[in-house]
Amino acid sequence: MIAALVPAAPLAAGDSPIAVAQSVATAAYIVAALLFILALAGLSKQETARRGVVYGIAGMAIALTATLVLVVAGGSLVPDDTTAYLGLALLVAAVVVGGAIGLWRARVVEMTGMPELIALLHSFVGLAAVLVGWNGALYDTGLEGTLAGIHHAEVFIGVFIGAVTFTGSIVAFLKLSGRMSSRPLMLPGKNVLNVGALVLFAALTVWYVITPELWLLIVVTLLALALGWHLVASIGGGDMPVVVSMLNSYSGWAAAAAGFLLNNDLLIVTGALVGSSGAYLSYIMCKAMNRSFLSVIAGGFGIEAPRSDDEEQGEHHEIDAASVAELLGGASSVIITPGYGMAVAQAQYPVADLTARLRERGVEVRFGIHPVAGRLPGHMNVLLAEAKVPYDIVLELDEINDDFAGTDVVLVIGANDTVNPAAAEDPGSPIAGMPVLHVWNARNVIVFKRSMASGYAGVQNPLFFRDNTQMLFGDAKDRVEDILRAL
Ligand code: NDP
Repeated sequence: MIAALVPAAPLAAGDSPIAVAQSVATAAYIVAALLFILALAGLSKQETARRGVVYGIAGMAIALTATLVLVVAGGSLVPDDTTAYLGLALLVAAVVVGGAIGLWRARVVEMTGMPELIALLHSFVGLAAVLVGWNGALYDTGLEGTLAGIHHAEVFIGVFIGAVTFTGSIVAFLKLSGRMSSRPLMLPGKNVLNVGALVLFAALTVWYVITPELWLLIVVTLLALALGWHLVASIGGGDMPVVVSMLNSYSGWAAAAAGFLLNNDLLIVTGALVGSSGAYLSYIMCKAMNRSFLSVIAGGFGIEAPRSDDEEQGEHHEIDAASVAELLGGASSVIITPGYGMAVAQAQYPVADLTARLRERGVEVRFGIHPVAGRLPGHMNVLLAEAKVPYDIVLELDEINDDFAGTDVVLVIGANDTVNPAAAEDPGSPIAGMPVLHVWNARNVIVFKRSMASGYAGVQNPLFFRDNTQMLFGDAKDRVEDILRAL
């Protein structure tokens, strides 16, 4: 977005130093684009992820420097052009203020707060695309004929994608941070509303290309803001991981649209990279979660209003830490299925100690990791790696799901939606069809949580009322430490 600060037409033909600066910047943009591709490739594997981040930082540093060089060259060679100096001042101020806020947030953010921070950052990309689009509409380009038509289409589409991303990301932020209910909003005729908004957008785009009147741009901005809000508000808590990666994709397309308007190749390439990789990630996540990709990107299209079922479904049995220690003492196989609550309680360290202690006694201990456990992809793997749990006993859902049946004790530590049998057994449940860990097949299931509250998707869990399930109430870290003491 910083490229927006480069004066739109500062480079007079024949000004060779400026032409040189432009060529240098173009070359730098190509190098930066390549580094971004290498960054994505690096981030795809745990072992190369650190290198991937370094490539990304290098690419961004080169892109920012090239943009700075362009602005400085424009300013120094056109002394009377105050816009270039203003551009430089704004650029430096934006980098300093934005960099300082970014550094501070990145340092203080909890791992559990990452998805909401990412959602908020997506909203900035969306807002920037709207502002760039409006700027493109108000700025007289002097274009005529077909070129003017293309420019108007770019403005309109850029504003639309940006505004959908902006409000969609704000709603995702509010839902993920618990400021808004994670239940899906079920307006009557919600599918008709979404499809109608898309049809209206297509018609307005044609209208705007033919007669670019400002009121059309105002209408499409309001329409897209409402659509973004509605699309994400209509999606239930269980599908939020997909929504976050989908908004990531939208923010990429919004940046690419801004790149077209600003004539900035790097922004187009980067936006397309983010847009397509985000779309692909959403697709993979939908497949893993047994969700329809089209339904999720269309705001839960085709999903009927789920019945409210967060009421308790029978009697639950309680257990204390000493009895759990006794149970574990007599077990030969144990599976631990961690979830969001383990992250909140920061219980991974005592859990790692408990694992080591049980393994010393000859108990087989393994971990079952659900792909969306916690609040970001790979959340549990990161926490367990942090606590030095050996990788080879940390297994994915598909690798471990058949083994619960022969297991003595399962410790469900702060997990809820990811171990909910309703997903597998109740076709009317809002999370029906989502793959879950089949913990209920084990001989004994111990659930660590503080209350009978439902999980993120707002759906009550029948697991808690099964005969082989016992609840160990309290903070997960305190309870695991109690068990360690009792052992
Ligand atoms: P859930 O969010 O379903 O449940 C977590 C449980 O932890 C709650 O029932 C809560 O119960 C308990 N808990 C909270 N704090 C503590 C604590 N200090 N000590 C003990 N227990 C605690 O967790 P899951 O990991 O099973 O499921 C993840 C959910 O988040 C899914 O619905 C997923 O779709 C969604 N999601 C996942 C994302 C991802 O990328 N992984 C991103 C966005 C959403 P209580 O309050 O009673 O203690």
